[in-house]
Amino acid sequence: MQKRTKIVATLGPSTDKPGVLDQLIRSGVNVVRLNFSHGSADDHRQRAAEVRKLSQQLAIPVAILGDLQGPKIRIARFKDDIKIKLAVGDHFALDSALDTHAGDQTQVGIDYKALPGDSRPGDILLLDDGRVQFKVLNVQATRINCEVIIGGPLSNNKGINRQGGGLSAAALTDKDKQDILVAADIDADYIAVSFPRSSVDLIEARQLLDQAGSSAEIIAKVERAETVSSNEALDDIILACDGVMVARGDLGVEIGDAELIGVQKHMIKRARELNRTIITATQMMETMIQNPMPTRAEVFDVANAILDGTDAVMLSAETAAGDYPVEVVQAMTKICQGAEKHQLSRPAPTGITQRCEHIDETIARSAMYTANHLVGVKAIICLTESGSTPRWMSRIRSGLPIFALTRNERAMRRMALYRGVEPMLFDGTGLDVKSLNNQVLESLKAKELLCSGDLVLLTRGAIIGSGNGTNSMQVLQVP
Ligand code: PGA
Ligand code: MN
Repeated sequence: MQKRTKIVATLGPSTDKPGVLDQLIRSGVNVVRLNFSHGSADDHRQRAAEVRKLSQQLAIPVAILGDLQGPKIRIARFKDDIKIKLAVGDHFALDSALDTHAGDQTQVGIDYKALPGDSRPGDILLLDDGRVQFKVLNVQATRINCEVIIGGPLSNNKGINRQGGGLSAAALTDKDKQDILVAADIDADYIAVSFPRSSVDLIEARQLLDQAGSSAEIIAKVERAETVSSNEALDDIILACDGVMVARGDLGVEIGDAELIGVQKHMIKRARELNRTIITATQMMETMIQNPMPTRAEVFDVANAILDGTDAVMLSAETAAGDYPVEVVQAMTKICQGAEKHQLSRPAPTGITQRCEHIDETIARSAMYTANHLVGVKAIICLTESGSTPRWMSRIRSGLPIFALTRNERAMRRMALYRGVEPMLFDGTGLDVKSLNNQVLESLKAKELLCSGDLVLLTRGAIIGSGNGTNSMQVLQVP
């Protein structure tokens, strides 16, 4: 049984082991994530080449997502790489002037030099995803003096967030600019921008990608509290990118998990309304880093995101560094299939009264309306150049497969992220309408995706292969 929701899997040491990547793709991974926060450029190049090779061999489209590190703020290192233990009430200082390897029981350096200037007495700083928390007492030039309010172990390079967000670091660091060149060279299909503050950071990313000759689409990771503090702030981000990620790791730390669930639901709904794709990420199957089975809470968390309408669910350390990379993908695929059976995952299409600006959007909407109302329709077939019509279609729920046929390999890979869309290569250049329809139906029949007698909807442009845009829909019966 096919699943409609897509799986993004992060690559790392665990997926480098022989045979693992192959099994991951067979088990339901649609997009791989190269995490530029870890590993060298060569690691990423090798992994990307392996993915392309396997995807070709298996004839399963897989998109590559390069995820930029961004200005993740971290403490520096401790002397002799020790791990300290902090107790509630201890005084501890973060000092941007301290040597990077000089941390001890009372102080540690920080790589983000602007943090003292960004900090005010009373601020709550969350270290290591909130496992250790400091209250800022005062700031003396480069030194932030704090009191420990939640104690625990602290070791090298742990992340720092501020409760409520609002740290000013620019989204694209020098390292990110280098990594954009690597991503362009790999021909990544998507680039994820970490910690964008607003559309301005995403526009800059687009310019850098253009300069590097990359056509990658941009995924904005929503992970700062201020970007979800108003509908305007969130829309500004969504409208400036091609897809968004609910980056629950950092966002959850900044706004708290209790707020996060509502934000996740709103983000998924809003992204779909604005014709953007959406990935729900982080700690979805966390316990499977060490265990062969997920907890029920994890199964329900993944299922909930699917019922909300996410395009994709993401695995981070579960596949990159976990003990059960294949099992976790298999488990996630099962959850997708289970959740997708439920009626909640396909409510009646909305936006029927909405006006459209684009012809292909109108055709896509008409096709989805027909699919949901004409008795007996088994599938939607979409002949597409860029993938734009299938994307419109997949914003409207139907429960029917959308077979997206394109001659453009980049478009095919990009569509691997779209929920409910099954992209495949097909070149109909030069065929007249009748033989084109025939060939399309025969090829889907040969793949056992359609049967004789099935009713299907087919959309395409006026001149096949011209890239002129979809402007027609037909209802056809499979011969
Ligand atoms: P990260 O982003 O894994 O790169 O931190 C995702 C998140 O914050 O959830
Ligand atoms: Mn993050």
